[in-house]
Amino acid sequence: MEPRNAIVTLITGAGSGIGRACALQLARRKHHLVLAGRTESKLADAADEILAFGSGEVMIARADISDPAQARSVVDQTLERFGRVDNLVNAAGVAALAPIEKTTKELLSDTFATNTFGPAYLIAACWPRFRTQKSGCVVNVSSLASQDPFPGFFVYAASKAALDSMTRSVAREGAALGVRTFCVNPGGVETPMLRSLFNEKAIPKNQTLAPEAVATVIVDCIEGRRESDQGKIIVLSNP
Ligand code: NAP
Repeated sequence: MEPRNAIVTLITGAGSGIGRACALQLARRKHHLVLAGRTESKLADAADEILAFGSGEVMIARADISDPAQARSVVDQTLERFGRVDNLVNAAGVAALAPIEKTTKELLSDTFATNTFGPAYLIAACWPRFRTQKSGCVVNVSSLASQDPFPGFFVYAASKAALDSMTRSVAREGAALGVRTFCVNPGGVETPMLRSLFNEKAIPKNQTLAPEAVATVIVDCIEGRRESDQGKIIVLSNP
Protein backbone atom coordinates (compact mmCIF):
# COMPACT_ATOMS: atom_id res chain seq x y z
CA MET A 1 0.00 0.00 0.00
CA GLU A 2 1.32 3.43 -0.98
CA PRO A 3 2.22 5.77 1.85
CA ARG A 4 -0.31 8.58 1.48
CA ASN A 5 2.29 11.32 1.27
CA ALA A 6 4.66 9.63 -1.20
CA ILE A 7 5.74 12.17 -3.79
CA VAL A 8 6.18 10.79 -7.29
CA THR A 9 8.73 12.43 -9.56
CA LEU A 10 9.42 11.52 -13.17
CA ILE A 11 12.85 12.61 -14.41
CA THR A 12 13.99 12.31 -18.01
CA GLY A 13 17.70 12.18 -18.77
CA ALA A 14 18.11 10.59 -15.33
CA GLY A 15 21.03 8.37 -16.29
CA SER A 16 23.63 11.13 -16.27
CA GLY A 17 24.45 14.76 -15.62
CA ILE A 18 21.78 17.12 -14.32
CA GLY A 19 18.93 14.59 -14.41
CA ARG A 20 20.90 12.09 -12.37
CA ALA A 21 22.04 14.71 -9.84
CA CYS A 22 18.41 15.73 -9.47
CA ALA A 23 17.33 12.12 -8.95
CA LEU A 24 19.92 11.69 -6.18
CA GLN A 25 18.79 14.82 -4.36
CA LEU A 26 15.11 13.87 -4.56
CA ALA A 27 15.88 10.30 -3.47
CA ARG A 28 17.33 11.74 -0.26
CA ARG A 29 13.93 13.36 0.21
CA LYS A 30 12.28 9.96 -0.20
CA HIS A 31 10.50 10.70 -3.47
CA HIS A 32 9.33 7.75 -5.50
CA LEU A 33 11.31 8.15 -8.70
CA VAL A 34 10.84 7.22 -12.32
CA LEU A 35 14.17 7.42 -14.13
CA ALA A 36 13.74 7.78 -17.89
CA GLY A 37 16.31 7.71 -20.67
CA ARG A 38 17.39 5.64 -23.65
CA THR A 39 20.28 3.69 -22.11
CA GLU A 40 19.19 1.08 -19.60
CA SER A 41 22.66 0.55 -18.12
CA LYS A 42 22.97 4.24 -17.17
CA LEU A 43 19.54 4.23 -15.57
CA ALA A 44 20.29 0.99 -13.71
CA ASP A 45 23.54 2.46 -12.43
CA ALA A 46 21.71 5.57 -11.18
CA ALA A 47 19.04 3.37 -9.55
CA ASP A 48 21.74 1.28 -7.81
CA GLU A 49 23.38 4.43 -6.45
CA ILE A 50 20.03 5.65 -5.13
CA LEU A 51 19.01 2.33 -3.59
CA ALA A 52 22.37 2.04 -1.82
CA PHE A 53 21.44 4.84 0.58
CA GLY A 54 17.75 3.93 0.88
CA SER A 55 14.91 6.01 -0.42
CA GLY A 56 11.45 5.74 -1.83
CA GLU A 57 10.88 3.34 -4.69
CA VAL A 58 12.79 3.67 -7.94
CA MET A 59 11.54 2.61 -11.35
CA ILE A 60 13.47 2.59 -14.60
CA ALA A 61 11.64 3.53 -17.80
CA ARG A 62 13.79 3.03 -20.88
CA ALA A 63 12.39 5.31 -23.56
CA ASP A 64 13.30 7.63 -26.36
CA ILE A 65 11.23 10.67 -25.45
CA SER A 66 11.43 12.01 -29.00
CA ASP A 67 8.96 9.26 -29.90
CA PRO A 68 5.42 10.26 -28.83
CA ALA A 69 4.35 6.68 -28.08
CA GLN A 70 7.41 6.03 -25.90
CA ALA A 71 7.00 9.36 -24.09
CA ARG A 72 3.36 8.56 -23.33
CA SER A 73 4.32 5.07 -22.22
CA VAL A 74 6.67 6.51 -19.58
CA VAL A 75 3.78 8.46 -18.07
CA ASP A 76 1.45 5.43 -18.34
CA GLN A 77 4.01 3.22 -16.57
CA THR A 78 4.41 5.87 -13.85
CA LEU A 79 0.66 6.02 -13.24
CA GLU A 80 0.36 2.24 -13.33
CA ARG A 81 3.05 1.81 -10.70
CA PHE A 82 2.40 4.78 -8.41
CA GLY A 83 -1.11 5.99 -9.27
CA ARG A 84 -0.01 9.61 -9.58
CA VAL A 85 2.69 11.93 -10.85
CA ASP A 86 3.56 15.01 -8.81
CA ASN A 87 6.63 16.35 -10.57
CA LEU A 88 7.92 16.14 -14.11
CA VAL A 89 11.55 17.14 -14.62
CA ASN A 90 12.36 17.44 -18.32
CA ALA A 91 16.15 17.11 -18.20
CA ALA A 92 16.76 14.90 -21.25
CA GLY A 93 18.41 16.80 -24.06
CA VAL A 94 20.83 16.61 -26.94
CA ALA A 95 23.24 19.20 -28.30
CA ALA A 96 25.43 19.39 -31.35
CA LEU A 97 27.78 22.12 -32.45
CA ALA A 98 27.37 22.97 -36.12
CA PRO A 99 28.16 25.98 -38.25
CA ILE A 100 25.01 27.55 -39.69
CA GLU A 101 25.78 26.44 -43.24
CA LYS A 102 25.88 22.81 -42.05
CA THR A 103 22.28 22.92 -40.83
CA THR A 104 20.43 19.87 -42.10
CA LYS A 105 16.91 18.57 -41.87
CA GLU A 106 18.21 15.72 -39.67
CA LEU A 107 19.97 18.04 -37.24
CA LEU A 108 16.88 20.19 -36.94
CA SER A 109 14.49 17.27 -36.50
CA ASP A 110 16.70 15.31 -34.09
CA THR A 111 17.40 18.32 -31.89
CA PHE A 112 13.83 19.61 -31.77
CA ALA A 113 12.43 16.07 -31.38
CA THR A 114 14.27 15.53 -28.10
CA ASN A 115 14.66 19.06 -26.68
CA THR A 116 11.25 20.48 -27.59
CA PHE A 117 8.80 17.81 -28.74
CA GLY A 118 9.78 15.29 -26.03
CA PRO A 119 8.96 17.65 -23.14
CA ALA A 120 5.74 18.63 -24.95
CA TYR A 121 4.65 14.97 -25.26
CA LEU A 122 5.40 14.34 -21.59
CA ILE A 123 3.65 17.47 -20.34
CA ALA A 124 0.60 16.65 -22.47
CA ALA A 125 0.53 13.07 -21.16
CA CYS A 126 0.75 14.25 -17.52
CA TRP A 127 -1.87 16.97 -17.98
CA PRO A 128 -5.08 14.92 -17.40
CA ARG A 129 -3.56 13.50 -14.22
CA PHE A 130 -2.50 16.98 -13.03
CA ARG A 131 -6.07 18.13 -13.65
CA THR A 132 -7.50 15.26 -11.58
CA GLN A 133 -4.99 15.81 -8.79
CA LYS A 134 -5.47 19.60 -8.96
CA SER A 135 -1.70 19.82 -8.62
CA GLY A 136 1.53 19.16 -10.46
CA CYS A 137 4.93 20.68 -11.05
CA VAL A 138 6.89 20.87 -14.30
CA VAL A 139 10.55 21.86 -14.39
CA ASN A 140 12.00 22.23 -17.87
CA VAL A 141 15.77 22.20 -18.16
CA SER A 142 16.47 24.69 -20.92
CA SER A 143 19.73 26.55 -21.50
CA LEU A 144 21.38 29.93 -21.24
CA ALA A 145 21.93 29.40 -24.98
CA SER A 146 18.27 30.22 -25.63
CA GLN A 147 19.08 33.84 -24.72
CA ASP A 148 22.83 33.99 -25.28
CA PRO A 149 23.81 31.39 -27.90
CA PHE A 150 27.37 30.14 -28.15
CA PRO A 151 28.49 30.12 -31.83
CA GLY A 152 27.52 26.73 -33.28
CA PHE A 153 24.28 26.52 -31.27
CA PHE A 154 22.03 27.85 -34.06
CA VAL A 155 19.72 24.82 -33.86
CA TYR A 156 20.20 23.88 -30.19
CA ALA A 157 19.49 27.44 -28.98
CA ALA A 158 16.30 27.60 -31.03
CA SER A 159 15.09 24.26 -29.67
CA LYS A 160 15.58 25.55 -26.12
CA ALA A 161 13.96 28.92 -26.92
CA ALA A 162 10.87 26.97 -27.96
CA LEU A 163 11.04 25.13 -24.63
CA ASP A 164 11.20 28.50 -22.84
CA SER A 165 8.07 29.52 -24.72
CA MET A 166 6.27 26.30 -23.83
CA THR A 167 7.10 26.95 -20.17
CA ARG A 168 5.24 30.27 -20.33
CA SER A 169 2.19 28.62 -21.94
CA VAL A 170 2.17 25.79 -19.43
CA ALA A 171 2.47 28.27 -16.54
CA ARG A 172 -0.39 30.38 -17.92
CA GLU A 173 -2.74 27.42 -18.53
CA GLY A 174 -1.59 25.39 -15.56
CA ALA A 175 -2.18 28.09 -12.94
CA ALA A 176 -5.93 27.44 -12.97
CA LEU A 177 -5.30 23.70 -12.47
CA GLY A 178 -2.79 24.10 -9.64
CA VAL A 179 0.15 23.24 -11.90
CA ARG A 180 3.41 25.08 -11.12
CA THR A 181 5.93 25.47 -13.94
CA PHE A 182 9.55 26.52 -14.08
CA CYS A 183 12.35 26.84 -16.62
CA VAL A 184 15.95 26.44 -15.48
CA ASN A 185 18.49 27.82 -17.96
CA PRO A 186 22.08 27.05 -17.00
CA GLY A 187 25.28 28.05 -18.74
CA GLY A 188 28.01 25.40 -19.08
CA VAL A 189 27.51 22.48 -16.69
CA GLU A 190 30.19 19.83 -16.00
CA THR A 191 28.41 16.85 -17.62
CA PRO A 192 29.05 14.32 -20.39
CA MET A 193 27.11 16.57 -22.80
CA LEU A 194 29.36 19.56 -22.21
CA ARG A 195 32.55 17.51 -22.46
CA SER A 196 31.39 15.84 -25.68
CA LEU A 197 31.37 19.32 -27.23
CA PHE A 198 34.09 21.33 -25.48
CA ASN A 199 37.44 20.30 -24.02
CA GLU A 200 38.85 21.89 -20.89
CA LYS A 201 40.93 24.30 -22.95
CA ALA A 202 37.79 25.75 -24.54
CA ILE A 203 35.80 25.79 -21.28
CA PRO A 204 37.95 25.28 -18.17
CA LYS A 205 36.45 23.29 -15.30
CA ASN A 206 36.53 26.27 -12.97
CA GLN A 207 34.13 28.07 -15.32
CA THR A 208 31.44 25.41 -15.28
CA LEU A 209 28.54 24.81 -12.95
CA ALA A 210 28.29 21.52 -11.07
CA PRO A 211 25.27 19.40 -12.04
CA GLU A 212 24.46 19.24 -8.31
CA ALA A 213 24.11 23.06 -8.22
CA VAL A 214 21.59 22.97 -11.08
CA ALA A 215 19.78 20.08 -9.38
CA THR A 216 19.51 22.14 -6.19
CA VAL A 217 17.66 24.87 -8.09
CA ILE A 218 15.32 22.27 -9.62
CA VAL A 219 14.62 20.88 -6.15
CA ASP A 220 14.01 24.43 -4.87
CA CYS A 221 11.39 24.89 -7.63
CA ILE A 222 9.72 21.59 -6.74
CA GLU A 223 9.72 22.30 -3.02
CA GLY A 224 8.25 25.79 -3.30
CA ARG A 225 11.29 27.98 -2.66
CA ARG A 226 11.13 29.68 -6.09
CA GLU A 227 7.41 30.45 -6.33
CA SER A 228 7.94 33.95 -7.74
CA ASP A 229 9.85 32.37 -10.66
CA GLN A 230 6.86 30.39 -11.95
CA GLY A 231 6.62 30.71 -15.72
CA LYS A 232 9.91 32.61 -15.83
CA ILE A 233 13.36 31.72 -17.03
CA ILE A 234 15.81 31.06 -14.20
CA VAL A 235 19.22 31.87 -15.62
CA LEU A 236 22.16 30.16 -13.92
CA SER A 237 25.33 31.86 -15.08
CA ASN A 238 28.77 30.33 -14.98
CA PRO A 239 31.14 31.12 -12.13
P1 NAP B 1 23.85 14.57 -20.25
O1 NAP B 1 24.61 14.05 -19.11
O2 NAP B 1 24.23 14.19 -21.63
O3 NAP B 1 22.31 14.23 -19.98
C1 NAP B 1 21.34 14.22 -20.98
C2 NAP B 1 20.55 12.95 -20.79
O4 NAP B 1 19.45 12.94 -21.70
C3 NAP B 1 21.37 11.71 -21.04
O5 NAP B 1 21.34 10.93 -19.86
C4 NAP B 1 20.66 11.02 -22.19
O6 NAP B 1 20.66 9.62 -21.94
C5 NAP B 1 19.26 11.62 -22.14
N1 NAP B 1 18.63 11.68 -23.45
C6 NAP B 1 19.12 12.28 -24.58
N2 NAP B 1 18.26 12.12 -25.59
C7 NAP B 1 17.20 11.42 -25.11
C8 NAP B 1 16.00 10.94 -25.67
N3 NAP B 1 15.70 11.16 -26.96
N4 NAP B 1 15.15 10.25 -24.89
C9 NAP B 1 15.44 10.03 -23.58
N5 NAP B 1 16.55 10.46 -22.98
C10 NAP B 1 17.43 11.15 -23.74
O7 NAP B 1 23.86 16.14 -20.24
P2 NAP B 1 23.31 17.23 -19.22
O8 NAP B 1 24.22 18.37 -19.36
O9 NAP B 1 23.04 16.67 -17.89
O10 NAP B 1 21.94 17.63 -19.93
C11 NAP B 1 20.73 17.76 -19.20
C12 NAP B 1 19.96 18.94 -19.77
O11 NAP B 1 20.67 20.14 -19.46
C13 NAP B 1 19.81 18.91 -21.28
O12 NAP B 1 18.48 19.25 -21.62
C14 NAP B 1 20.77 19.99 -21.75
O13 NAP B 1 20.35 20.56 -22.96
C15 NAP B 1 20.70 20.96 -20.60
N6 NAP B 1 21.85 21.85 -20.49
C16 NAP B 1 23.11 21.35 -20.35
C17 NAP B 1 24.17 22.23 -20.24
C18 NAP B 1 25.58 21.76 -20.09
O14 NAP B 1 26.51 22.57 -20.22
N7 NAP B 1 25.83 20.50 -19.78
C19 NAP B 1 23.94 23.61 -20.27
C20 NAP B 1 22.64 24.07 -20.41
C21 NAP B 1 21.60 23.18 -20.50
P3 NAP B 1 20.56 8.55 -23.12
O15 NAP B 1 21.52 8.98 -24.19
O16 NAP B 1 20.89 7.29 -22.46
O17 NAP B 1 19.13 8.62 -23.56
